[in-house]
Amino acid sequence: MTIIHIDKVSKFYKMGGEIITALDQVSLDIEQGEFVAIMGPSGSGKSTFMNIVGCLDMADQGLYALDGTAIHRLKDAQLAEIRNKKIGFVFQNFNLLPRLTAYENVELPLIYRNIPRKEREPMVRQALASVDMLDRQEHWPAMLSGGQQQRVAIARSLAGDPAILLADEPTGALDSKTGKEILDIFKRLHEHGRTVVLITHDEWVGAQAKRIIRFKDGRLL
Ligand code: ADP
Ligand code: ADP
Repeated sequence: MTIIHIDKVSKFYKMGGEIITALDQVSLDIEQGEFVAIMGPSGSGKSTFMNIVGCLDMADQGLYALDGTAIHRLKDAQLAEIRNKKIGFVFQNFNLLPRLTAYENVELPLIYRNIPRKEREPMVRQALASVDMLDRQEHWPAMLSGGQQQRVAIARSLAGDPAILLADEPTGALDSKTGKEILDIFKRLHEHGRTVVLITHDEWVGAQAKRIIRFKDGRLL
């Protein structure tokens, strides 16, 4: 089953009087359960692509369908609803809220989605268990190592059972040993059927995925 269907998607930015083509007629399908790395030099369109796939922004031209839903001419609130339900984000700098415990950080997106407390608890606990962080659930982010914080962030991204996990340089702030541990988690999630899209400029990191998609000048190589 195709989970990400992208057909001739273009994205333009206005810079002064100039129009920059950030994505130029990009077409791409990603199947459910795939583990894909998105690679390319700085300025090649990776972030623009990730923002569209992650429903943070919309294409100017072309078609994007996520899990069967066309992402096209939606109001911001509709786009946010699809994003909250379908996408789990993992960032380079973890983006945990410092005043919330690990448990509360994982719970927060579920609160945004109006999932009742009774249903939230097993979801949070299962997500924390899946990254082996259940025993640290009462810790604040500052009490955790970088690798542990990223594991909590992965738990947060997984708790709502998203259609895809979208990770932007998830190992970029970690030493290579810890980065390898985080990649092992993504590999395990992929083995359990999760769709993982990993944006990286690190060749070794990209090589851990099952397919590499390369961008150059807003086009696919
Ligand atoms: P990457 O993530 O691979 O570094 P980007 O998607 O950020 O690439 O950028 C693709 C192109 O679009 C670049 O030429 C970049 O300068 C331009 N661009 C990206 N975002 C903006 C923006 N908000 N305004 C103007 N130009 C942008
Ligand atoms: P709300 O708008 O409902 O308060 P947020 O915008 O804080 O919620 O977050 C909604 C989802 O979108 C979260 O999963 C969050 O990780 C993601 N998100 C929010 N802002 C960004 C961003 N700038 N880049 C990537 N993902 C984001």
